[in-house]
Amino acid sequence: MAIRLKLGNYETVQGDPLGRSFIGYFPRMTETEAWEAGRGVWRMNAEKASRQRFAVIVGEGHIRAVGEVTGVTAQGDRIALEGTALPSGHPVRDAWLGKPDPVVNGSQNPVGYCELPEEKEFLYRPCACGCDENTDRDFLPGHDVRAIQARVREHFDSSPLKFIQWVDDALTGAAAISSHTADQQP
Ligand SMILES: [Zn+2]
Repeated sequence: MAIRLKLGNYETVQGDPLGRSFIGYFPRMTETEAWEAGRGVWRMNAEKASRQRFAVIVGEGHIRAVGEVTGVTAQGDRIALEGTALPSGHPVRDAWLGKPDPVVNGSQNPVGYCELPEEKEFLYRPCACGCDENTDRDFLPGHDVRAIQARVREHFDSSPLKFIQWVDDALTGAAAISSHTADQQP
């Protein structure tokens, strides 16, 4: 899921916890301006917000910036997102910038959540080595090697040579089966 934050009307502010001089939407604001105006400060669930990788900032019904969330900070009883506006070329930003508000629920709450199909490949998931840590790749850095080494240790007497010979034999066998199958095609 991604978090959607809806900008209100433009207004200047003083003593803003994020050091801003204005919040809210104004026409032709840049993506960076929209991200800065939209990343805080909101009444929202910090734990849920911190689980989102992407945030879309909506102004006057359309997405004005797509940000990558790197963390959240508490500002009194409110929450701000840390992160940056995604640059041109990022698939999530390119798919959604300028599009209508993706959250259609009839609620007046400026904070909403939605699924963005393009975000899937970037989402955090358990590392495939089984270490119980999360990553946006198949493995955390180095954990792929660790996972292979564990199998070599456990099943091949710690011998990489045995492992490689086993793989080559398996592939040779598979090739023999598929060529045999191919021979049977009419
Ligand atoms: Zn791991």
